[in-house]
Amino acid sequence: MLSQYYPYECAESVFRIDTEKLLARGIRAMIFDIDNTLVHHGDDATPEIEAYFAALRETGMKALLLSNNDAPRCERFIRNMPWLPYVCDADKPDPKGYRRAAELLGVSPAETVVVGDQIFTDILGANRSGMASILVHFIRLPEETHIGKRRYLEYVILFLRRLQKKYCGRLGDILTNERD
Ligand SMILES: [Mg+2]
Repeated sequence: MLSQYYPYECAESVFRIDTEKLLARGIRAMIFDIDNTLVHHGDDATPEIEAYFAALRETGMKALLLSNNDAPRCERFIRNMPWLPYVCDADKPDPKGYRRAAELLGVSPAETVVVGDQIFTDILGANRSGMASILVHFIRLPEETHIGKRRYLEYVILFLRRLQKKYCGRLGDILTNERD
């Protein structure tokens, strides 16, 4: 079934996701991929991202980082956000890590949304775990012109998803009105 690859929503970046609207829909936790979702692969958290998580925390939304990367990478990312929990070596799209994340946050899959840049890991795992998901445009540097084969497959999947309206916008209106 192709639908297991379909995200609930697509957004240009995490900054386009309206947390208050998610909370109003009963979403209590957000699980984030790190690399190419929050920062360029391997980069430290930027001041903008640190401000984003500080603001998120203020809203009462629970947050957790779910990464296929190792503990030193996650530790480096949360250096200035030691309160932010993470699950490393998550082996996405295996649902195991997603379940562990929900358990740590004390939420059910139905109350959780996964935010990531890859359909074949982040989104597939969310669907397998019964969690909603938001696909963000992957962060890349201006000089990066090469796109991997999997990205082309993602474009095909997103094209097919658009033809099946019931899979689009499944969270309702949850994006911010202003563009970044
Ligand atoms: Mg990623």
